[in-house]
Amino acid sequence: MTRKRIYEIAKEFGITSKELIGKLAEMGMPGLKAANSVDEEEYGLITNLYQEETAPQSDTIAKEIESVSAGKTEETEEVDHRPSRPPIVSVLGHIDHGKTTLLDAIRHSHVTSKEVGGITQGVAAYQANLGAQTITFIDTPGHKAFTGMRARGAKATDIAILVVAADDGIMEQTVEAIDHIHAAGIPMIVAINKIDKPNADIDRVMNDLTKHGLTPEVWGGDTITVSISALKGENIDELLEMILLVAEMENLRGDPTGTLEAVIIESHLAKGRGPVATAIVKNGTLREKDVIVAGSTWGRVRAMTDDTGSRLYEAGPGRAVEILGLQDVPHVGTTIEVMKSQNAAKTAATKQKEQEAAPRRSRAKMSVEDLFREAMEGEKLRLVLKASSTGALEAAKREIEGIGVEGIKVEFVHTGVGPISEGDVLLASSIDEECVVVGFGVKADPKSSKLAERDRVVILTYDIIYDLLGEIEHALKSMLAPEYEETRIGEVEVREVFKIPDGVVAGCYVTSGKVERKAKVHVLRDAVEVFTGEILSLHRFTEDVREVQSGRECGVRIKDFNDIQPGDHLAIFTLKEIER
Ligand code: GDP
Repeated sequence: MTRKRIYEIAKEFGITSKELIGKLAEMGMPGLKAANSVDEEEYGLITNLYQEETAPQSDTIAKEIESVSAGKTEETEEVDHRPSRPPIVSVLGHIDHGKTTLLDAIRHSHVTSKEVGGITQGVAAYQANLGAQTITFIDTPGHKAFTGMRARGAKATDIAILVVAADDGIMEQTVEAIDHIHAAGIPMIVAINKIDKPNADIDRVMNDLTKHGLTPEVWGGDTITVSISALKGENIDELLEMILLVAEMENLRGDPTGTLEAVIIESHLAKGRGPVATAIVKNGTLREKDVIVAGSTWGRVRAMTDDTGSRLYEAGPGRAVEILGLQDVPHVGTTIEVMKSQNAAKTAATKQKEQEAAPRRSRAKMSVEDLFREAMEGEKLRLVLKASSTGALEAAKREIEGIGVEGIKVEFVHTGVGPISEGDVLLASSIDEECVVVGFGVKADPKSSKLAERDRVVILTYDIIYDLLGEIEHALKSMLAPEYEETRIGEVEVREVFKIPDGVVAGCYVTSGKVERKAKVHVLRDAVEVFTGEILSLHRFTEDVREVQSGRECGVRIKDFNDIQPGDHLAIFTLKEIER
């Protein structure tokens, strides 16, 4: 027997892959993934186990098992009762590696057209069926579209397919796509395409994948790969099965009766039809006649069509639909909200429009240090780094990594050779954290600059490595919490304590140095520090003063401390920030 995959075995015994993986972990085989395979002996063990479990049990064993599984359900966190929904899939990869051919192949083999005349190509997504299950494919391939949809905050895609041509291997845009998928934080499946070609070299692709941190699961890693020929329609079913498998692992759910979560994935103005938009529903149901807001535009859903050209009256989770009825063409990546009335929708859209039009603080006027500071959230500086050549890129990367300011890390969201592109800007704006785009020896083209302005992405370009390193190092250092040095300026003895309506005043004698109104104080009782804080007020007789010299008496109040006692000593000090 050849090796069997976990998900196949799970299917065989009528359980979920997740359950089986859990069971195997208990049996001493941890860390398996649904796409991993087991050998004959291991398969035998699993078979024994499940045959035993389904065999009639003696009372005691049955009870034992019952109690174990009862304990388990208690452990599991809140159960999501929403039904599972179709996964939403995007296809990415280098130009000419077969993204469009793959999408067409799936469309032609797995979409059942209900209309005479066949499939409408207008809708920007379609639903493929495999058995009783459905997968929603976004029909605009490429990482620019993928990240463009994400740049406005909407997360349309659940799973990414990375297409790599087996005769060409990993190319520049493949690497870009990998980084874009990583930044999206979603799972990916690698489709090794064009295996029908005589010069196809699957092993080389797998080897290249490993170099990019994607070790194929057939080589012991956890990257799922499927070898296909999009042109010949080979192994397409296997690819779809893998998608469904990953979807099962991701536990994608949507409630048709819940709040609507839908994303615009394409929009245009159509002659005679007005603004047309394709939306994907992730949760809830979108219905004809619903009054909706999509960013700065609104409307009443006049008609909805699915990818097969059928009119739809409602679209539930996982559905992609073309919508007519919006007042204006909405931005790709905006989410749709259902409103109670046209007035409410109009108001919300107008408000959004005004916000978009309002002048924003131009980042061009901020200091580089502030820009970097904004980019550093969670003690991490995120960068997209582009350079003029592989050598320059490697050098810049190495030098930046070598800056080493303690406690702070630099994360390269993406690095590449060539001018700063729209894709780079979209990538920087799509991630939830701030991210700066840095060019070393390269500039941004006008389109990218314009996009950066719109999405408030910072682009910084350098020609000299020391300028680049200096500014990053300075920014990193300025990010650290400041360190202070304490300077002792005086000693005070507390002689009497007076109660006043809102606290106490310590009647003191300055034994050495001085007391300053703005100084800090340690309160010492029997040489033990009982409090450290700030002076709230300082006065001589009835007058507020700025400082009192040694040999004099004064009244001191300490902020947030009323437990001062006669005999306490006050050590007065100031703080000075020290440069790191
Ligand atoms: P895209 O730029 O990634 O969308 O690539 P396309 O789908 O346009 O494909 C580029 C070229 O590769 C076209 O000429 C396709 O016919 C060809 N192609 C795509 N998939 C395969 C395949 O599986 N085998 C072969 N031999 N050619 C393919």
